[in-house]
Amino acid sequence: MVLLTRKIEFSASHRYDNPNLSPEENRRMFGKCNNPHGHGHNYTLEVTVAGEPSPVTGMVLDLKDLKVLLDREIMQRMDHRNLNVEVPELAGKIPTCENLVLVIWNLLEPKIPAGKLHRVRLYESADLFAECYRAAASNGYAPSGEARN
Ligand SMILES: [Zn+2]
Repeated sequence: MVLLTRKIEFSASHRYDNPNLSPEENRRMFGKCNNPHGHGHNYTLEVTVAGEPSPVTGMVLDLKDLKVLLDREIMQRMDHRNLNVEVPELAGKIPTCENLVLVIWNLLEPKIPAGKLHRVRLYESADLFAECYRAAASNGYAPSGEARN
């Protein structure tokens, strides 16, 4: 099995605010991330597909197909967007790196054209990322996730 990773970058804005908390609790919980007008990040997304290279093409999957998929599902949906209001999949969720990487996994996983989605890693900044990956012992689609800071 081979793991093939494609990296893309997009920019988006967000704000952390839980409507079930008071404004003061939100400020205490989220600090600057609760600023009313939001702020932006340059996200880096790494998408890793697992598979066997085709004996015909030598490829795990056609990179053009992957590019088209990432453009349609991620770039058009998220690039230069306000994640709080313009991405329906995040409705009702706080648009943290953790929630965003889960949304991205669920968008991509059923649509990978060949091989299987193995890992999605989303960098919010150079020193923070969250990731989902297919559990090694499972053939199911439920992602495992973790966040590192
Ligand atoms: Zn932020």
